[in-house]
Amino acid sequence: GEWSLSDKPVYDWSSEEEEPDGRARPIQVLLVKDDHTFELDEAALSRILLSAEVRDREVVAISVAGAFRKGKSFLMDFMLRYMYNQASEGWLGVADEPLTGFSWRGGSERETTGIQIWSEVFLVDKPDGTKAAVLLMDTQGTFDSQSTLRDSATVFALSTMISSMQVYNISQNVQEDDLQHLQLFTEYGRLAMEETFLKPFQSMIFLVRDWSFPYEFPYGQEGGMNFLEKRLKISENQHEELQNVRKHIHSCFTNISCFLMPHPGLKVATNPNFDGRIKEIDGEFINNLKVLVPWLLSPENIDVKEINGSKITCRGLLEYFKAYIKIYQG
Ligand code: GDP
Ligand code: MG
Repeated sequence: GEWSLSDKPVYDWSSEEEEPDGRARPIQVLLVKDDHTFELDEAALSRILLSAEVRDREVVAISVAGAFRKGKSFLMDFMLRYMYNQASEGWLGVADEPLTGFSWRGGSERETTGIQIWSEVFLVDKPDGTKAAVLLMDTQGTFDSQSTLRDSATVFALSTMISSMQVYNISQNVQEDDLQHLQLFTEYGRLAMEETFLKPFQSMIFLVRDWSFPYEFPYGQEGGMNFLEKRLKISENQHEELQNVRKHIHSCFTNISCFLMPHPGLKVATNPNFDGRIKEIDGEFINNLKVLVPWLLSPENIDVKEINGSKITCRGLLEYFKAYIKIYQG
């Protein structure tokens, strides 16, 4: 059938691969293996990007990237709700509806560095009358040792190059090591630029979770921008490397912004039986979610992926994906 196993399964999901209901779900398209080699599931990626309805549409590729257990899937499930209920005011759903989507497999998710793509590509009517195809990606890294740091940085660089918007999901603050990771992956990105003469980076959004200084910088995008400006300031007493990342960040991205999210409350953070229902999430978090998600995904705010000034289709994105991966496979 449509979801038959490729001859070399890259992910231990055999039972799910055979699931008969055809429901949309996350598909592991890129996997970093234990020996630090990259495996692209080209068949799975082609199935998604070359399906008849989307392949010739201009693509909006949105990636959420960051370390494990920092609420990426939780956020992406709300992004899915928004995409599935585009036209509706009540996209957030009802108070006691469990969350489903990237996290529906719950605790069984293996902590592998790589990229997952939502199997359904969404068609969205842009205000200018065109239809765009919106692709959602989950980019995960581990960052816990030198070797996995390198793997994670490479995967981040790749997902940043193929996305039109990279949401860098970080916890509590923009720490120096978050910036160092960014430094590392912008370096990988520049390597690719040198080989392909393309300027690969488009938009970067720092999404700070559990922000706890709203009296200093208020939640949301404006507080975020002011905070980021301060955080990215270059000063004399900084280590040279940190000065460099700050200098390079602006030259690497077309747009940079930041959004400060409040803590979602103790039920979300600590209750193992929490299933995502809104009534158990702090109101402050929900209020900001209602701003954040449309800010990221509304038809007037999404940007088509551009490379060297040309808009890219889903079919084109597949080719770039393959080309960029070759660079890192060396
Ligand atoms: P991922 O590994 O980054 O995809 O993280 P998950 O979305 O699976 O979330 C990991 C855990 O953090 C779960 O128990 C979530 O309920 C919880 N969580 C989700 N969002 C947040 C958040 O904004 N702050 C905190 N503190 N926990 C969160
Ligand atoms: Mg996850």
